[in-house]
Amino acid sequence: MNELLKIEHARKVYQSRFKGVQVEALKDIQLEVNKGEYTAIMGESGSGKSTLLNMIATLDKPTSGKLYLNGDDLTQIKEKAAAAFRREHLGFVFQDFNLLDTISVKDNILLPLVLSRKSIKVAKPKLQELAEKLEITTLLEKYPYELSGGQKQRVAIAGVLAIRPQIVIFDESTSMLDPEGRAELVALMRRLNKEEGFTVISITHDIDEAALADRIIVLEKGKVIDDDMPENIFTRGNELSKVGLDVPYPERLKHELAKLGIKVPKKYLTEKELVDWLWQFNLKN
Ligand code: ADP
Ligand code: MG
Repeated sequence: MNELLKIEHARKVYQSRFKGVQVEALKDIQLEVNKGEYTAIMGESGSGKSTLLNMIATLDKPTSGKLYLNGDDLTQIKEKAAAAFRREHLGFVFQDFNLLDTISVKDNILLPLVLSRKSIKVAKPKLQELAEKLEITTLLEKYPYELSGGQKQRVAIAGVLAIRPQIVIFDESTSMLDPEGRAELVALMRRLNKEEGFTVISITHDIDEAALADRIIVLEKGKVIDDDMPENIFTRGNELSKVGLDVPYPERLKHELAKLGIKVPKKYLTEKELVDWLWQFNLKN
């Protein structure tokens, strides 16, 4: 496998404003991320998810330990180089869309390109292609305030992908959407990750998104307590419940069905997919 990111014994201690009080936000994190991988990071509030992302994004440095991207030591780079690195190689998609309401959708997509100093001429054809993939071609002349949450988020993603980042970081980017919009966006994120080949690191509380990921990393109190494929994590279950997340209902139901001797699909199914499958199963038997 092709290693992109490597984190070695990273530890982060925050010095609080109150004298002598320290918070150990990350404890000895050991992590490798391969090119093209879709990684979901889950964990309760305060478990260290944002701290970890800030380090990967070179917005903050670990107190001790190392971070390598393509073999380059990110803990050694100076702020100016870090800023250039963020502009050129990282894409961020946050929960609150980050679009400017006073400029058109098209300009919102082009803006990150301008900021990353990439040529607009080179970018334009890419813009068209991305707009088609994200199904926003009819929205390009509109303004963000005219769009739904899901549409806004697709525009934000187009802007991020236009700079062809090595890593796209989603920070709870579906949490503001309704369940339907969320499912659509998640499927799209996963499809683009496969087609365009960029690496995704996504902080999420959405179990259906995590289920589509290549792997789930579960953080608890600054430690990685689990790091595995979704199927394996859902089967074990106890790690998830420890951090206040539930094993998805369809997985629990499948488990019960299997106990009854029913051959259930191995692949993760959403609630709707499992219900559809059960109808079909019922018709055949
Ligand atoms: P999460 O994103 O999983 O909610 P964070 O990474 O934001 O967790 O926080 C991890 C721990 O570090 C928490 O205990 C939090 O209070 C603490 N923390 C985060 N940022 C700071 C900071 N700038 N100064 C002091 N403590 C912080
Ligand atoms: Mg956070």
